[in-house]
Amino acid sequence: QVRCEGTADAQSAVTYEDIGGLHKEVRRVREIIELPLKHPEVFEHIGIDPPKGVLLYGPPGTGKTLIARAVAHEASVHFIHVNGPEIIDKVYGASEAHLRKVFEEAKQNAPAFIFIDEIDAIAPSRTQLNSDRQMERRVVAQLLALMDGLNTRGQVIVAAATNIPDSIDPALRRPGRFDRETEIGVPDRDGRMEILEIHSRGMPLGQGVTLDGLAGMTHGFVGADLAALCREAAMAAVRRLLPDIDLDEGVVPVDRLSELRVERDDFEE
Ligand code: ATP
Repeated sequence: QVRCEGTADAQSAVTYEDIGGLHKEVRRVREIIELPLKHPEVFEHIGIDPPKGVLLYGPPGTGKTLIARAVAHEASVHFIHVNGPEIIDKVYGASEAHLRKVFEEAKQNAPAFIFIDEIDAIAPSRTQLNSDRQMERRVVAQLLALMDGLNTRGQVIVAAATNIPDSIDPALRRPGRFDRETEIGVPDRDGRMEILEIHSRGMPLGQGVTLDGLAGMTHGFVGADLAALCREAAMAAVRRLLPDIDLDEGVVPVDRLSELRVERDDFEE
């Protein structure tokens, strides 16, 4: 239920090069997470406590998880990815025990970075919870206690992501908890262009394809939409080759394959 990825190399590594747009946001997140984990001496010297928690908020598919993965990889720290809804366990006390385990693992492997995705699922505002939602109440209380128990010099930083920041328990946003917030918003035209460049990186593109033109036509698309657009366009190109492929014999016409490009029309399918 909890993906413990160890040092972030364990899974396909995400680097800052894989993030389109979001330059200001990445810089800020690096300052809040990477700097204190890699160089605690800076904070010691200047006499302030590094942050313990940061909240990333914004619409789905804008790159919150991507940033977390990239920071973990680039900082080479122990990374624990917790999916909010997955941690909820109906068995009495099990969700809290999961959370305690996560924080314990982080402390033992410090410097470490815990990323809690969809935190609203485990820490909804307690005032919105009626009495039959006792479990969520206990989970929020446990998370608060774990955050408070983190020693600021303990080299464990927690980031949490949500689409709806106002739906999480306000107590979590108090000083010493998730007291830094960064909005990860919908990309503008330049951001979309960079994201399209990233997701079409390995594709042979036809001459009629201009990523700048595509960026101009995709107002409102988030990163996940643009990634899907590129994937679907490539699949449309592959489909053009299909009649020439003999699946029974397992023969792909090499000359046709080498000529195959993802064309402008493929993006409009
Ligand atoms: P959710 O709120 O649904 O969890 P999220 O903000 O965490 O969404 P991600 O999981 O980071 O979104 O994004 C999904 C996928 O979309 C990424 O794996 C990536 O392929 C693509 N993507 C999103 N944003 C970007 C971006 N800024 N640059 C490049 N790719 C992006």
